[in-house]
Amino acid sequence: MSTARSAPPINIRGIAKRFGSVPVLSGLDLDVASGEFLTLLGPSGSGKTTLLMILAGFVRANAGSIDIGGEEVITKPPHKRNIGMVFQNYALFPHMNVFHNIAFPLKQRRTSAAETAERVEKVLDLVQLQGLADRRVDQLSGGQRQRVALARAIVFEPRIVLMDEPLSALDKGLREHMQIELRSLHRRLGMTTVYVTHDQREAITMSDRIAVMNKGRIEQLDRPETLYARPRTRFVAGFIGESN
Ligand code: ADP
Repeated sequence: MSTARSAPPINIRGIAKRFGSVPVLSGLDLDVASGEFLTLLGPSGSGKTTLLMILAGFVRANAGSIDIGGEEVITKPPHKRNIGMVFQNYALFPHMNVFHNIAFPLKQRRTSAAETAERVEKVLDLVQLQGLADRRVDQLSGGQRQRVALARAIVFEPRIVLMDEPLSALDKGLREHMQIELRSLHRRLGMTTVYVTHDQREAITMSDRIAVMNKGRIEQLDRPETLYARPRTRFVAGFIGESN
């Protein structure tokens, strides 16, 4: 994997989204620094997934702009944004083997067979699934599947990775193990990462900074220790202090 290209910052301005007459995001601003691991943390329904889908290009905002590395992307389709994604509803193909699942984004980009083989092998190493290329996905454990999804998200060397509750289906032990793996992968590859969770402990463990969301707004954006020590609103204090 190449780490030489610098990961672009993301600058989000005035993003608004309504579903019918219901406002979900109203004029949201957010800056994600180059190579940063930023987490959107908030209760169910606070607009985290909607914001991620807008960033990915799957949902069109009603207003606002998204600048990635100096380029306006708001009207670009998802495949032209060079973003890797691990979404809950962006499932693997269970009847296909690990190799073909991971190679899928390369096929979409018409990568040659030789380069595809080379890249898939490298990324299998990275997520520690060496030797499992021929295994059908429906014969893997939850943690292994999660790593296949991750491998597929990074195989084309995206400079930005979006992850929506990627560990929510795993049991506690495996989840904690994968948190460490994800974090160390991020440290090695340095992609600008936007991560979504409703689990405050997970957010605190993994993030450079956390944006606490409530009802479609960012209540506070800070480093985990600052949020914990100096919550700016009662909502943030309650949400960060709460144990789950
Ligand atoms: P979160 O990820 O924080 O749980 P979401 O972004 O999924 O929040 O949802 C925010 C709000 O937008 C919720 O009230 C949800 O019901 C609504 N919503 C999300 N997607 C749609 C949609 N496609 N159509 C209508 N309402 C939606």
